[in-house]
Amino acid sequence: MKKAMVLLAAVALGVLGCASMKNGAEKKERAELERKVRRLLAQMTLEEKVGQMTQITLQPFAKEDKDGYLTLDAEQLREGIVARHIGSILNCAGQARTVANWREIITQIQDIATKETRLSIPIIYGIDSIHGANYIREATIFPQNIALGATGNVALMERIGEITAMEQRAAGIPWNFNPVLGLARHPMWPRVFETFGEDAYIASVMGAAYIRGQQGEGISHPTRVGTCMKHYLGYSVPRSGKDRTPAYIPQRELRQHFLKPFAAAVDAGTVTCMVNSSEINGTPVHASEFCLRTLLRDELGFEGFVVSDWADIENLYTREMVAADRREAVKLAVMAGIDMSMVPYDYSFYETLIELVEAGEVPMKRIDEAVADILRIKYKLGLFEHPYPRAGRAGSVGLDSSARVNLQAAREAITLLKNDDNALPLAPGSKVLVTGPSADKLSLMNSGWTFTWQGDNEALYPQDKHTILEALRDKLGGDNVTYVEGVAFDKEVDIAAAVAAANVADVIVACIGEPTYCENPGNINDLTMSQPQLKLVEELVQTGKPIVLVLVEGRPRVIRTIVDDARAIVMAYLPGVEGGRAVAEVLCGDVNPSGKLPLTYPKYPGGFTTYDHKTSEVKATNGLNVQWPFGYGLSYTTFEYKGLRLDRSEMTPDDTLTATVEVSNTGKVAGKETVQLYLSDIVASVTPPVKLLKRFKKVEVQPRQTETVRFELTWDDLEFIGPDNEPIVEPGEFKVHVGELSVAFTVPPFAK
Ligand code: BGC
Repeated sequence: MKKAMVLLAAVALGVLGCASMKNGAEKKERAELERKVRRLLAQMTLEEKVGQMTQITLQPFAKEDKDGYLTLDAEQLREGIVARHIGSILNCAGQARTVANWREIITQIQDIATKETRLSIPIIYGIDSIHGANYIREATIFPQNIALGATGNVALMERIGEITAMEQRAAGIPWNFNPVLGLARHPMWPRVFETFGEDAYIASVMGAAYIRGQQGEGISHPTRVGTCMKHYLGYSVPRSGKDRTPAYIPQRELRQHFLKPFAAAVDAGTVTCMVNSSEINGTPVHASEFCLRTLLRDELGFEGFVVSDWADIENLYTREMVAADRREAVKLAVMAGIDMSMVPYDYSFYETLIELVEAGEVPMKRIDEAVADILRIKYKLGLFEHPYPRAGRAGSVGLDSSARVNLQAAREAITLLKNDDNALPLAPGSKVLVTGPSADKLSLMNSGWTFTWQGDNEALYPQDKHTILEALRDKLGGDNVTYVEGVAFDKEVDIAAAVAAANVADVIVACIGEPTYCENPGNINDLTMSQPQLKLVEELVQTGKPIVLVLVEGRPRVIRTIVDDARAIVMAYLPGVEGGRAVAEVLCGDVNPSGKLPLTYPKYPGGFTTYDHKTSEVKATNGLNVQWPFGYGLSYTTFEYKGLRLDRSEMTPDDTLTATVEVSNTGKVAGKETVQLYLSDIVASVTPPVKLLKRFKKVEVQPRQTETVRFELTWDDLEFIGPDNEPIVEPGEFKVHVGELSVAFTVPPFAK
């Protein structure tokens, strides 16, 4: 016993010793980095400093774009990098480039930056790898974030971050404008698909996993990149539902929901932050010291640099109307806390900011602060030692092993919303009519941020990947699958032909959804699925043949009028380039669906709510009446939840509460289930939400087997943002819910 104690003490000391050595090494590294930054800063002229704060898009430097192969104009580059000292370039000048082309582009840029400028400061190149490294032709194009939010698979998310980083860095690009951490709490917003859904906890966990995958142990590593959390803060709930229009968010709500994923991202070590293009409560976030300093720096402790979104300093005087002219706009934004301006086309920001500093309107101290933040990240990325694409990495893009991860993600995302009479899986040998505008295009399963901004150039998609139609033909045999498009999104094509084909088929698979879009071009006035698509389904229903709907959409389009008549409904979201195959596997029963809706699916175009609504929203005649609730998703097997128990009936600040539940597979096939734990605070001084998601865990359970799932809650989980905008816990009753089960515990009155 004594020996064991000594051993334990020695191990503990060893661990402590290692930890303090690690801390010591980290401190030394930090101090060394600080010295380098200060030394460089001390040598810089005002022009060189302001240049570092300037980010220009690739377009003005493009010379020729022949068959997608881009060459750059060296003179234009010199104008930007040597004459104006710009520190950053972004984007792809129109479309995705091959790895080889990217490596040339980056090499040419860094050659000029490091060999032709006085201080040899490398360029930090940034790009939007939103669902995979989507501006690289050979890259692995994953499901969009909304689908990844449905997987409930955190380890998979981390792996996707890792693969995307490896592929992006192989092209020589060290900075990624992702993860998107807005919360999809307005279903019309055209950027819903870029988010992980409506819930702050899922976005926090998935966002942090992605950042860990991207940044690993250090962003100078040749397979890692620096991340950029965006769009900070409150971008995702414009009152109108239209992109870049005003949001009104009380501070309590801001902290209760919208700030949380950003706090998690800062904790996970994200190195940069991109700002919400729009406004909250009448203040554009680009001009908000409260958001950019008080919350971001002082409260969250963010230490990286802050980049504007596209032209958003200009927008302060051309669109937001809080500044009279450019000069005022630049001053407002820089003083509020913007460190780098995504200008993006010219040197107007650079010239204006120099004038402002020379006139004493922006202090040099502020410039030094911003430039130090930028240089620090350039050092951390290893750009001073390795500005060029690293040798031997080009082959790491588009590996088979990455495609397998991609397929798994698509499989785990797909969410079964309805399956009357076990219409799915399709019976072997069924004769299937495939119809609808989403059946036979890869672009529609990917949408925005795929090879181009709008994702609509079908010719750029990898021809070896399958559309839903192709994958079904592959699985069921060409003779068993007929295809009639029926309708386009906005017009009828040949509904009569689809009806005729349905009459001789056993089952109809109607693939409906949305065209490709991204940002403003995706604005809509009505959340209802387009009329031609509804009409196609309504007429096909008249044939009496069972109809399966496959929804290929980035946001939940209202389909109330066709839900009852459909036998089965499968939500595919935007499942990426493996989506066709994954959908076919689910329809045929090779894969048992396990996705859960990461948002509330509305039933009416005016009936929006979220799962964490208030009790008043369901009382009296209000009636929630959603189409499918958040967290919903069926399986080809059945799960039964039993024995939910807590290890304590009271909780005080230092306690950990352990909840345990048994999940049994009571059906005939193996299945995966995301077990979700919700908490409700029964009575609170701020009207409490009916419940909040606190934990989830995905488990695989074999038929007739039971898995025991354990969750731990701590005091923080009981907090809400109180009347004074501070997190508080109030004594009283709480309830833990898992499935249909719930167990109460109490927080005793606090001792005064
Ligand atoms: C988007 C950002 C993106 C930027 C650069 C903007 O229009 O809002 O999300 O990072 O463009 O492409």
